[in-house]
Amino acid sequence: TSEERLQKVIAQSGVTSRRKAEKLITDGKVTVNGETVTTLGSKVNKDDKIEVNGVPLVKEDLVYFLLYKPRGVISSVQDDKNRKVVTDLIPKLNERVYPVGRLDYDTSGLIILTNDGDLAQLLMHPSHEMDKVYVAKVKGIPTKQTLNKLKRGINSEGEKLTAVDAKIISADVKKETAIVELTLHEGKNRQVRRMLEAVNHPILKLKRERYGFLNLKGLTSGDFRELTVHEVKQLR
Ligand code: URA
Repeated sequence: TSEERLQKVIAQSGVTSRRKAEKLITDGKVTVNGETVTTLGSKVNKDDKIEVNGVPLVKEDLVYFLLYKPRGVISSVQDDKNRKVVTDLIPKLNERVYPVGRLDYDTSGLIILTNDGDLAQLLMHPSHEMDKVYVAKVKGIPTKQTLNKLKRGINSEGEKLTAVDAKIISADVKKETAIVELTLHEGKNRQVRRMLEAVNHPILKLKRERYGFLNLKGLTSGDFRELTVHEVKQLR
């Protein structure tokens, strides 16, 4: 039988990311056939009985979904106020999937759900530099200078927030609103809202339209589909 590294097997079981799996091992929380293993890189095979915190590891199939999150849904697997969460939108699922990153409660758009801890960790890492394209309806009509400022980067709460692209899609002169498209590589907390607030164009509506090469074509709000094997490969 083929052998694999213990931390990889734990991460692929959908319990956690590989980095966290490594910490579980070095913290002495993992046993293999009843023996605590604290060295990273130990090899295991499919007949070995692995337990994490005393709980047997059940190997789940890796699954990948693209969800068109509606507004008014939490990007989490549970909510202490009992509001609807993204996993409620994917019924009858045996695997414990969780969202890759976050969209605010009031933000709609594309979010990936998976139980592949490694891929999730990879996609959320800042060095991954995936295009994330947001379309925002904002108060006021940003000038060219304002768009340039967003591309140079603005300071907010001690963080520099930058857009790799910022443009106006349309403007309603009468209502004094505009539709703005921002492309980010970063994924900082409430980044688009903070950036547009900092230049005095508060957001009225926000949607994530694209994540790398993935878009929402063919889906309406609340719909989901599985990613194809080819798409999953391309994400890595
Ligand atoms: N930026 C935000 O401000 N909110 C989101 O939900 C996503 C990006």
